Amino acid sequence: MPSHEYDVVIVGGGVTGTALLYVLSLYSDIRNIALIEKNASVGEVNSHPLNNAQTSHDGGTETNYPLEHALLVQKAAKLLRAYVEARKTEGLFKKTHRMVLGVGEDETRDLREERFPKFKPHYPDLHLAEKDELRVIEPNVVLGRDENEAICAMVSSEGYAVNYQRLSECFLEDVRVHNPYAKVFFNTKIKHIRKENGVFTLETNTGVYRASVVVCAAGAYSLLFAQELGYGMHLGILPVAGSFYSSGPLLKGKVYRVQIEGMPFAAIHGDPDVLNQADTRFGPTTKPLPFMERHRPKTFFDYVKLPIVSLRGLWVLTKLLMNKKLLGYVFKNALYDLPVIGPYLFLREARVIVPTLTYQNLKLRKGAGGIRPQIVNLETGELEMGDKTLVGENCIFNTTPSPGASVCLANAHRDAKQVAAFLGKKYSA
Ligand SMILES: Cc1cc2nc3c(=O)[nH]c(=O)nc-3n(C[C@H](O)[C@H](O)[C@H](O)COP(=O)(O)OP(=O)(O)OC[C@H]3O[C@@H](n4cnc5c(N)ncnc54)[C@H](O)[C@@H]3O)c2cc1C
Repeated sequence: MPSHEYDVVIVGGGVTGTALLYVLSLYSDIRNIALIEKNASVGEVNSHPLNNAQTSHDGGTETNYPLEHALLVQKAAKLLRAYVEARKTEGLFKKTHRMVLGVGEDETRDLREERFPKFKPHYPDLHLAEKDELRVIEPNVVLGRDENEAICAMVSSEGYAVNYQRLSECFLEDVRVHNPYAKVFFNTKIKHIRKENGVFTLETNTGVYRASVVVCAAGAYSLLFAQELGYGMHLGILPVAGSFYSSGPLLKGKVYRVQIEGMPFAAIHGDPDVLNQADTRFGPTTKPLPFMERHRPKTFFDYVKLPIVSLRGLWVLTKLLMNKKLLGYVFKNALYDLPVIGPYLFLREARVIVPTLTYQNLKLRKGAGGIRPQIVNLETGELEMGDKTLVGENCIFNTTPSPGASVCLANAHRDAKQVAAFLGKKYSA
């Protein structure tokens, strides 16, 4: 069995891990880096285009973000968009419009009078579109709708749909040019991480790796490894699976809905698939599933190692579901994955976006859709939305529900700076 020694080992070859390898390779003087991935290629889990919503979020149309948070996401989105635009890679992204659609008196009033005036000064790409304009830019949003139903939308001209798996490949291609010393190991699964005499020992199926610094970018597994090293013991994960429906060519851009009051998760949206613009996807649904990774039932056995599977954890989860009125919502969403009745129930939700949608139009995408590892704080009993980073002694752990992919480059710069500080090396962007 080979033994490898590195300054930095990155665990996980999704968009988070590959972005960090890219940033370290371009903006630091650290050369001796390895990325270890258990699958045969990059971006096979949540970063795969079939598994996520492909949106480059920037906060402008996400009504679940307060302005302060939206502006942080906007900054990160600009970095990502500058990269994909400059890269000019076939199939990497598609630029359309992105909107948040208000339906009914309350939502339209809120968009017109509250949200739009507050956000417009910070988002020059936004404008308010009334029904007549929507009839032109998204005809199927208006067609067949009750004439008396109020609708309007905040529309951004910066609607980026990104293939985050392709993005991970682009990062690796750039790494090969800028840091030929960087090593990438596929089909290598980290089983355990220990710290011995100040050095990390990573036990894998192909041998032992040693590193001065470890960064976990392994989705839900990052928290498991953090806890193996004694960090984040007060945290658990609520894994929220999201499925998608296909419906044929219905929408030209991304149509999001106003956040449901009191709901921590975004409502479903519709958009053309970055892989096939002629197919409009609706989703993602919201279904808790006790797996670390979707469609991999064996990962249940790793999930139960997290402290969420304890009396305290179960009590916190029950309280969360009751308090946030989530139970009914989640139950309804679980039904969406069922044959026959699933599309029928889902249709009612999707018709708020496209009123003429029919049962025949909707096809559940089998084997698609990932899991958002939402962090639950077992001390406060609260869900911690967005991506979560734990920083320990010479180690970093990233757990990345949405919008983890949108902020991958910004997170990579943040982590690269920290890694350089750990090693006493240079980082300058
Ligand atoms: C339904 C859904 C919709 C979403 N929509 C959006 C969106 O529109 N916009 C957005 O920005 N984000 C979205 N997200 C979130 C986004 O997909 C993730 O934040 C992003 O893909 C996370 O990238 P990652 O590299 O951190 O994780 P992943 O892509 O999951 O990669 C983690 C990698 O770690 C590897 N790994 C795990 N354990 C080990 C181990 N033991 N040894 C070696 N390797 C290991 C895995 O194989 C995997 O390749 C969505 C997510 C879901 C599920």
